[in-house]
Amino acid sequence: MKFIGAHVSTSGGVENAPLNAKAIGATAFALFTKNQRQWKAKPLSDKNISEFKKNCEEIGYKPEQILAHDGYLINLGSPAPEALEKSRDAFLDEMQRCEQLGLQTLNFHPGSHLKKTDEETCLNTIAESINITLDKTKGVSAVIENTAGQGTNMGHKFEQIAHIIEDVEDKSRVGVCYDTCHGFTAGYEIRTKVAFDKTFKAFDDIIGFKYLKGMHINDSKKEFETRVDRHENLGKGTIGLEPFKFIMKDKRFDNIPLILETPNSDIWAEEIRMLKKLAGL
Ligand SMILES: [Zn+2]
Ligand SMILES: [Zn+2]
Repeated sequence: MKFIGAHVSTSGGVENAPLNAKAIGATAFALFTKNQRQWKAKPLSDKNISEFKKNCEEIGYKPEQILAHDGYLINLGSPAPEALEKSRDAFLDEMQRCEQLGLQTLNFHPGSHLKKTDEETCLNTIAESINITLDKTKGVSAVIENTAGQGTNMGHKFEQIAHIIEDVEDKSRVGVCYDTCHGFTAGYEIRTKVAFDKTFKAFDDIIGFKYLKGMHINDSKKEFETRVDRHENLGKGTIGLEPFKFIMKDKRFDNIPLILETPNSDIWAEEIRMLKKLAGL
């Protein structure tokens, strides 16, 4: 089964996310459990939590159809001790919010070395951050997103993601979210069936499909290998529609949230309809 949706708004409270997802015909959704541009957030109230669970249950969203996304300020690979500690505290808080909401997956961008350490050290730091957080929580997996490799962001090569996973102690609680826009501008070609198969064979060989816990379904404003992260609506960018047809027909992408993060949210309902049709739903 394909679970298809978008990263929806939580304006007015996390409990509104499932309602916003339902309104666009989504069978999956992503959300921020707090303001993504701030370090601190007030704790979720009992009402937030119970209403969120009630809405998900009434509409029929199960935990495997929901992907939480962490805030933008967190850098789990930070070379600066203070920033690293702050990031780890914030990440733990995000994980605990997911626990409270009964969610299973928290998607995050791995981290950046900021040219102050080497890549190897940064990847080790990220893995250590994950280990520390998993130790203090239960039931929620840390889901590493592949990046476009903008600036000093790690996670734009499959080997880097595999390195992090390798160093995570509890492999049952680590996963990967593949963003099609990021992968493409990072240099993973998917525009023809041959290239698509080659890219996902490499993904399977180097990382392993068993770790795939979600996807971000985005076209790209920027060209191949530019290492710039600018999403575009489906079929309107440099990737085109073809790879999304491949994904929708491929069983390897079943039973995980497939999430639009395309810029024009006015056409999400239309994009979801199109993807469902491609999947034969
Ligand atoms: Zn993404
Ligand atoms: Zn992005």
